[in-house]
Amino acid sequence: MTNIKAKKRFGQNFLKDESVLFKIIESMPINDNHIVEIGPGLGDLTKKLVKCKDVTAYEVDRDLYAILQAEFIKEIDSGRFKILLGDVIERWGDNQSLYNSKYDLIANLPYYIATNIILKALDDDNCENIIVMVQKEVANKFSASAGDKDFSALGVITKLVSKKSEIVITVPPESFSPPPKVDSAVIHIKKDMDKKVDDEFKKFLKLCFCQPRKKLLKNLSNDYDKTLLENIFDELELKQTIRPHEVEASLYSHIYKEIQNGRKHTTSTN
Ligand code: SAM
Repeated sequence: MTNIKAKKRFGQNFLKDESVLFKIIESMPINDNHIVEIGPGLGDLTKKLVKCKDVTAYEVDRDLYAILQAEFIKEIDSGRFKILLGDVIERWGDNQSLYNSKYDLIANLPYYIATNIILKALDDDNCENIIVMVQKEVANKFSASAGDKDFSALGVITKLVSKKSEIVITVPPESFSPPPKVDSAVIHIKKDMDKKVDDEFKKFLKLCFCQPRKKLLKNLSNDYDKTLLENIFDELELKQTIRPHEVEASLYSHIYKEIQNGRKHTTSTN
């Protein structure tokens, strides 16, 4: 089973370090949620997951799918494990969920789409916990707080829709076969199931961070009236010189609301 050649185009770096696999299992919350795994690969993590709970897995690689079907035949027959062939991003589709009731996403993600997967999972109403291995750089972005140099639109979104977001363990390249070129980390995001951000707000954040080292006011004045912005900054007691990474996540919601209110006001009085 292990002499299969890893396919670069599918981001295949198989996790072989037992202590890291154990740490992932240990960090799983105790709850009744189903487990969804993206990219079970050769099944090393899957073997441990199915011992704990029922698992649904999505695998894009046809060869691995066939191997996994044979390897987990008993668990598939008993209904403990279900494997679906296909690109998980397509499966998500428009407003679709990866599972029809509450689930936790536990996975060693393919790095080329890791950011996209986390964003989709944050949007998925049925997903409650995200415990995933990603590039360390990506984990830093999703766990950053205001003031950290890594605080970006991803950090703002995560803070607004989650109760916690923290790095569980950092993992060196040698823990994988073949080893990736970068350091990795497992991140645990526990979502606040009552909170969501919409696409318009995400577009607004993109503008806020369009030039991350410039002043926030400067970035926003690309699209909005400067006087309106200066008034909003004064009202919220924000320095006009503040940089995007220095602003608390909750303040982004306030600025956004104030801009919408201010624009409505301007159009209705014109
Ligand atoms: N879970 C295994 C492990 O820990 O060793 C493999 C992890 S490997 C980093 C990423 C896995 O994701 C591979 O099995 C790969 O084929 C799969 N994959 C890549 N792109 C995918 C996609 N779009 N949808 C579903 N699975 C994908």
